[in-house]
Amino acid sequence: MPNKNRFETKAIHVGNKPDQESGAVSPPIMLSSTYEQMAVGDHKGFDYSRAVNPTRTRYEENIASLEKANFAISFSSGMAAITALFQTLKKGDHVIIGKNVYGGTYRIAVTVLKTHGFKFDFVDTKNIDYLENAIQSNTKWIFVETPTNPLLELCDLEATVNLCKTKNVKLAVDNTFMSPYGQSPLTLGADIVMHSATKFIGGHSDILGGVLITNDNNLAERLFFIQKTGGAVPSPFDCWLLLRSTKTMALRVQRQSDNALELANRLKSHPKIKSLVYPGLKTHPQFELAKRQQLNPVGDPIFGSMISLYLQSIKQRDLFLNRIELFTLAESLGGVESLVCIPYEMTHGSVPQNMKDEIGLSKSLIRLSVGIENVDDLFDDLAHALD
Ligand code: PLP
Repeated sequence: MPNKNRFETKAIHVGNKPDQESGAVSPPIMLSSTYEQMAVGDHKGFDYSRAVNPTRTRYEENIASLEKANFAISFSSGMAAITALFQTLKKGDHVIIGKNVYGGTYRIAVTVLKTHGFKFDFVDTKNIDYLENAIQSNTKWIFVETPTNPLLELCDLEATVNLCKTKNVKLAVDNTFMSPYGQSPLTLGADIVMHSATKFIGGHSDILGGVLITNDNNLAERLFFIQKTGGAVPSPFDCWLLLRSTKTMALRVQRQSDNALELANRLKSHPKIKSLVYPGLKTHPQFELAKRQQLNPVGDPIFGSMISLYLQSIKQRDLFLNRIELFTLAESLGGVESLVCIPYEMTHGSVPQNMKDEIGLSKSLIRLSVGIENVDDLFDDLAHALD
């Protein structure tokens, strides 16, 4: 019997059984919003597509298996997934969120959810003591990103899991930056993983999606209920595209990370770069943690495809942006095409200036999302723009 449990094999086969009616190897996109019932309540498991849809179910089975989990609950965007997670809370509940998270996560917490009576604190998740000190009697969740966006700081997941267990707090990990291929927080004991599927899961900068993945039956039941009740579901076409995209995730993400490591090594002492941040460099203060925590499915360290560069000045930054050709100036990350962005004004525009100053997010920080282009071409492009 072949082993069907390895990442690349599951990516191709789970949720991808040929269509029973036609034998189509690529599963059909089930567009129907509603389904025939033989008698009231007597149907084939599908009644209305907001509640459940065959193409969505295929995608959810597939992505759950890649995070080694029982349940995946998919949403129309990463922000819709985060919103659904927080909708499991009650007024007065407290959540600790990493100080350096995606700007949209910060924005929804302070501008929308706070007005509904949820309490938030933003804490430096590099430091386990800060996390412990922030826990209150009403703390329900710790929500972290690791590595963070865009400072690429790590949170020690094993230590945070231990803290959460002793304090009876649940741990949610936004695993967007590493993808299910590069880091397995559930295996380390986290309660839920969240992805902006828009990034590495989609992988081609052409789909918006979000997903929550867990082994907790009660939490999954509540989230499926919120999914069908709130209705922020991905379309059948998006589910089909995501199901198709995960088939190549292992190849894409490994190559993107290999390219990024190579570029970081070649650029680390470039005279025009004030500092270069990449968790795969020995100079990164958490290199040892990255080696231990960020593992691909065969257990090798993987450092991701995001690089942050600080240039000397905003003028240099703008000259760089004018000259760069293969890296497109755009928000988002994780696609096969390389992108460059200025988080200060773009992805983190909604984070207040004092918070940006506090965490060291400056206007001269350039974030690169490295794609799968030829690495020599990418290096030449960066070197030309820097010179
Ligand atoms: N989490 C992270 C780390 C992100 O980078 C993003 C988007 O950039 C999100 C969540 C939100 O996802 P989406 O844009 O799919 O709503």
